[in-house]
Amino acid sequence: MTAEAIHLEEQVARFKERVQGLLPDGGNLDMCLTCGTCSGGCPASGLEGMDPRKFLRMVALGLDEEVLSTPWVWMCTQCERCMHACPMKINIPRLVYEARSNWPRDQRPRGIRESCDFHVQRGGAMGIPKEDWIFVVEDVLEEVRQNQPGWEKLQAPIDKKGTGYYLNQNSREPVTEPEEMVPLWKILHLAGVDWTYSSEMWGGENYCMFLGDDDAWAKIVATQSRIIDDLGCHTFIETE
Ligand code: SF4
Ligand code: SF4
Repeated sequence: MTAEAIHLEEQVARFKERVQGLLPDGGNLDMCLTCGTCSGGCPASGLEGMDPRKFLRMVALGLDEEVLSTPWVWMCTQCERCMHACPMKINIPRLVYEARSNWPRDQRPRGIRESCDFHVQRGGAMGIPKEDWIFVVEDVLEEVRQNQPGWEKLQAPIDKKGTGYYLNQNSREPVTEPEEMVPLWKILHLAGVDWTYSSEMWGGENYCMFLGDDDAWAKIVATQSRIIDDLGCHTFIETE
């Protein structure tokens, strides 16, 4: 019995060409040494039978259908550990991001999609109304001032103009563990930093990036930038 030859050159690597066109120096995608260092430290290695080295090989070989359909891309944390460990500095997370962007939006993971949509619509990924965000901050602040000696003058302002420093906030904390907001307030207080939250687009994370949704990602960043300018802040403290 004779084995059939596999004609890899017949594969058309359109995905690879597209990503190469987006990255400086083409993202070094053709320079892989197949050493496997990227896979060694990847938290998503082995899931769905995939790892970053294998994913990159599939991209390089033009297996676009497999690359663009594997659910493994949603298991990558975008931590960039693979890229930093890679001797050729190959940008695998960007490959993963581009593969995610190719999925029909309604087929992307619902949890990430809803967090992105909530953030765009309501300013935070948990979807709480603006009034609840303001209430929680004021309520927690009052609780600390009244019950923790030495912190009677603690501040947690919202929409205060001219403070210099703008602080955003992980969206989950005011909903599930509001007391976790307080340590940073105290650090800023002790450091003498004049800061403010905003009532609008206050969430610190950006699930739209994880969703591979460029437009929504940009909208969050642009809105936050506009708010920071309107408040007259010179420094953005990004907590995520
Ligand atoms: S670490 Fe870099 S060179 Fe090594 S297999 Fe991974 S992508 Fe290729
Ligand atoms: S960025 Fe993704 S592929 Fe790279 S190490 Fe992190 S989880 Fe793995």
